[in-house]
Amino acid sequence: MRGGGRTGENVDTEERVEQLKPLLRSVLEILGEDQEREGLRRTPERWGRGLVTYTRGYVDEPENHLKVVFQLDEDDYPMGSDDMIMVDKIAFTSTCEHHIAPFRGNVHIAYIPDPASRVITGLSKLSRVVDVFARRLQVQERMTQQVARAIDENLKPLGVIVVVQAAHFCMIQRGVEQRETMTLTTARRGVFRTKPELETKFQQYLKLRSDPAQG
Ligand SMILES: [Zn+2]
Repeated sequence: MRGGGRTGENVDTEERVEQLKPLLRSVLEILGEDQEREGLRRTPERWGRGLVTYTRGYVDEPENHLKVVFQLDEDDYPMGSDDMIMVDKIAFTSTCEHHIAPFRGNVHIAYIPDPASRVITGLSKLSRVVDVFARRLQVQERMTQQVARAIDENLKPLGVIVVVQAAHFCMIQRGVEQRETMTLTTARRGVFRTKPELETKFQQYLKLRSDPAQG
């Protein structure tokens, strides 16, 4: 199963927290902590529950959210094929797989439905798809591509573009101390690859949104 998807999430959660507890207690000990100290007594359980929550995307798949689609009426659909549906600033928190440290930021998505099929999805489903992939051990580059691919394969639009902006705590907290750095990644599919003017339009909408006075 792709992404190691599993079933029986709740039963599984408790089981995995129990399995993690003794291991995390050992980690505290190796760090030189007194695991019996009042403040730390329940930490392995909370920590384990947190780890399971941060990776709950493994028990979910984008298809679960994108299989319910809608079809625009033929009469309501414009003739042009570059009208985009855009959702910006979908906030997410993920976990860097190299350092098991959080990275967080925003995802901006636009897609252009195919005028032949006129298939669209609920706007909230796009943020659900982001959540599915963010709640796994990730690298930002792959997450960006996975979101674009899921939309492309499930909605079969003319094109889709995904932009992810994020701050990585492995850069902020470890030696490198890059507090201001943002990492930006993009994924384009379909007409967004072949018609650069569509991306320009998308960027103009993003700018309009972040700076309404300039609109
Ligand atoms: Zn990292």
